Amino acid sequence: MCGVFGAFAPDEDVARLTYFGLHALQHRGQESAGIAVGDGKTVMAVKNLGLVAQVFKESDLQSLPGKVAIGHTRYSTTGSSRSWDNAQPHLSSIGWQQIALAHNGNLVNLATLRSKLTDHHVALRSSSDSEAIAALIGEHTEATSHIREGIRATMETIRGAYAVVLITEEALYAFRDPLGIRPLCIGTLPDGKGWVVASETTALDIVGADYLRDVTPGEVIKVSEDGVETLVAVTEDGEAGEVNEGGEDGRDGQGGEDRESGESRRCHRRRALCIFEYVYFARPDSEMAGLSMYEARTRMGERLAAEAPAEADVVIGVPDSGTPGAVGFAKASGIPFGEGLAKNRYVGRTFIQPSQSLRQRGIRLKLNPMRHAIEGKRVIVVDDSIVRGNTTRALIAMLREFGAGEVHMRITSPPVAWPCYFGIDIDTRAQLIGANRTIDEICAHVGADSLAYLSIDGMVDATGMSREDFCLACFDGNYPLDVSENLVAEEGLESRG
Ligand code: SF4
Repeated sequence: MCGVFGAFAPDEDVARLTYFGLHALQHRGQESAGIAVGDGKTVMAVKNLGLVAQVFKESDLQSLPGKVAIGHTRYSTTGSSRSWDNAQPHLSSIGWQQIALAHNGNLVNLATLRSKLTDHHVALRSSSDSEAIAALIGEHTEATSHIREGIRATMETIRGAYAVVLITEEALYAFRDPLGIRPLCIGTLPDGKGWVVASETTALDIVGADYLRDVTPGEVIKVSEDGVETLVAVTEDGEAGEVNEGGEDGRDGQGGEDRESGESRRCHRRRALCIFEYVYFARPDSEMAGLSMYEARTRMGERLAAEAPAEADVVIGVPDSGTPGAVGFAKASGIPFGEGLAKNRYVGRTFIQPSQSLRQRGIRLKLNPMRHAIEGKRVIVVDDSIVRGNTTRALIAMLREFGAGEVHMRITSPPVAWPCYFGIDIDTRAQLIGANRTIDEICAHVGADSLAYLSIDGMVDATGMSREDFCLACFDGNYPLDVSENLVAEEGLESRG
């Protein structure tokens, strides 16, 4: 759960472009933020713990002149969240050349990679996998004298989910794991002023860029004075595939998604895009494969209404990610939609911890019911997922306290029953209520009058794509990659309590 952004625009204030791009990706990580720029001679960075608006002052942006930049917002799933060393972009040198790298995702063979690097006497300062990726690129680049070869060889070594942006003093590189687990797209700035790369299309929108295409799973692109080029394409088996050099407009890389038609162009490899991006994680105004996340979530709600109807007076959503599902549920069921919960948008985005007495108020720090909308009514509550069950339980108790007559919980995804090893903060199996209880038991635990989940088919159908396009592992346990190294680590964690 991180956001990455990159810009190549020699005549623009690239640090400022990146700053605003990061604002559009703030939801992907609130623990740290950073920007690195290359000015043709050197690479500089400003990064710190905190939100984008807290980390950067006007003077920071003015101290980062350049023609190429990358930025990062971080939510830690690997490495300590409060360590400055784990903030990105990560700066390092390859011989005389400086690079900065930022990464979204999680490697599943990190322990093996770290021990290999240690054997090669490479000192790692942080515990994040981004530093390991940068170190491997450094090693392989020194061996071959080509950064393209360094990235290719690294992609053949690392396993897991990664969407990476990297700059040298002169150029921007972006690459994505061969299964495309984490999203990454390219856009063009107005008047041919340059290119941007971002985790989500919403970050293109905020800087006025037009969506060009997705970075295809396994593809390495370079953006420089020569335009956008596909350097290499690595397949799922870790082999470098055929390279289809891109034209200057960057459209003719290795294929990818066409935002308008949603058609896949010349890309026949297996993919495993994280379906949780559709369910919850990506912003509602972001698009993937030609469909907005809002639309996909609305369709999930419509399908859920058909799969699990209930008699009720009002449908409310748990803001923000449950709201589109509630709109869809209301539309398909004919039951009126109502705003039943007000969200305090700022309290969860602070580093000031609440006191114990405030913490006991739990969910009320973030959500407050609107009595007029629920009092004496039979309420259908739509949320995107249930992970541990504690929040849902507190939410239902609060709705009853505010006078709800009946509470019917409807979830726009199937039960989460398996942990995620690819960069979304989903717990160990022992902590997942969907792994350990039946739906009736969960219903009783959370105190609902009824509880129903969307089927896997219903969730996938709502995206307009097919099962083969997605990672569904947290729902069905079928991981698209071998995660045994992580299972061993998790068992150790659980046995230590
Ligand atoms: S396991 Fe779940 S959250 Fe993780 S990448 Fe797969 S679908 Fe996404």
